[in-house]
Amino acid sequence: MLTIHSTAQQFIDQEDRYGAHNYHPLPVVLQRGEGVHVWDVEGKRYFDFLSAYSAVNQGHCHPKIIQALFDQAKNLTLTSRAFYNDQLGPYEEYVTRYFGYDKVLPVNSGVEAGEAAVKLCRRWGYDVKGIPANQAKIIFVAGNFWGRTIAAISSSTDPSSRVGFGPFLTGYEIIPYNDLAALDVALQDPHVAGFMLEPIQGEAGVVVPDEGYLRGVRERCTRANVLMIADEVQTGIARTGMRLACDHESVQPDILILGKALSGGVFPVSAVLANDEIMLTIKPGEHGSTFGGNPLACAVATAALQVVIDEDLSDKAARMGKIFRERMNHLADANALVKLVRGKGLLNAIVINDDPDSSTAWNICLKLAENGLLAKPTHGNIIRFAPPLVITESEMNLCCDIIERSLNTVA
Ligand code: PLP
Repeated sequence: MLTIHSTAQQFIDQEDRYGAHNYHPLPVVLQRGEGVHVWDVEGKRYFDFLSAYSAVNQGHCHPKIIQALFDQAKNLTLTSRAFYNDQLGPYEEYVTRYFGYDKVLPVNSGVEAGEAAVKLCRRWGYDVKGIPANQAKIIFVAGNFWGRTIAAISSSTDPSSRVGFGPFLTGYEIIPYNDLAALDVALQDPHVAGFMLEPIQGEAGVVVPDEGYLRGVRERCTRANVLMIADEVQTGIARTGMRLACDHESVQPDILILGKALSGGVFPVSAVLANDEIMLTIKPGEHGSTFGGNPLACAVATAALQVVIDEDLSDKAARMGKIFRERMNHLADANALVKLVRGKGLLNAIVINDDPDSSTAWNICLKLAENGLLAKPTHGNIIRFAPPLVITESEMNLCCDIIERSLNTVA
């Protein structure tokens, strides 16, 4: 049984009393983080196998990122875009060269970057492709997740995101994921401006498409003069064992959406990247954000991206991910609870052999927490495992032992 001490219970009660009830956290109250570890208010140490939904790829409180935050915080934090600042230009040059695009649009959260991408895509559809006014269509896939604003949930197929929040945006079409034939049909409409997808669906439960899907999408979008928009908010920045998940198939999307680990989880930073033909369709005053491109974010994001290179985190994620899946597949052979193991790099999930509405995955996560490892179910019967990419081989083996032991003791 996971013991909840009185200090922790006070914090839990306080959140419950004064905070909106839009989350259902595991009953663990965290106070400190370093690398792959977090500590709760009682001083108990855990391995973090969620990494704030893949935001903390570089590890908790990475010293170089925190140093960049401190250094910049002493000088200048926010100017708004009413003026230039000495951090934004260097960051823009750095991030565009890093990912190979002409320009970046800096924003704050993942969903905000998704919104900006949708706007850019529509505008490109009208100004460049020549779609008649207000007729532009964007194709999405079933099971997508890019946040919970009205624009995002309008493309959602998840009832818990949608029910009770209509009416929704028009101009969207939803097709099945990993289905090139469905894309072929959808692309016949000349009013389609873009196709937006996650290269691996994170929130849907780490759904990995067939090899060749992303290449097929790229070819079809090019042929149909439709923008390929890759939402790499969760899969990007080394998480799947390469710089971007699209890199696994050597595919360059027309619009790239990044967030989360762009700041190493230190600060909300997100970005939309595209080439001039797309990015320059939006003119002054047509999109913006008070905090987007603030000096603190620029300093933090530059440091966070540099850490990924300096510590070769893509390669680490690829190697540690292989060990993880091997161990979990071994476990699946021996434990009937584990139905399937899937993922790439250090974005992985196990599917529990039970119905999606059961509480088994939740109970396993409680048991994992008791044994010193934090993970969270995505949907009722899927548990995602996404530790910081700085995890060592011995730590990974230790964590696999914990998972094995926990699964073997959950009835
Ligand atoms: N896109 C993807 C693929 C995500 O996984 C998420 C969040 O989990 C988002 C977008 C939204 O990011 P944020 O919560 O920072 O708005």
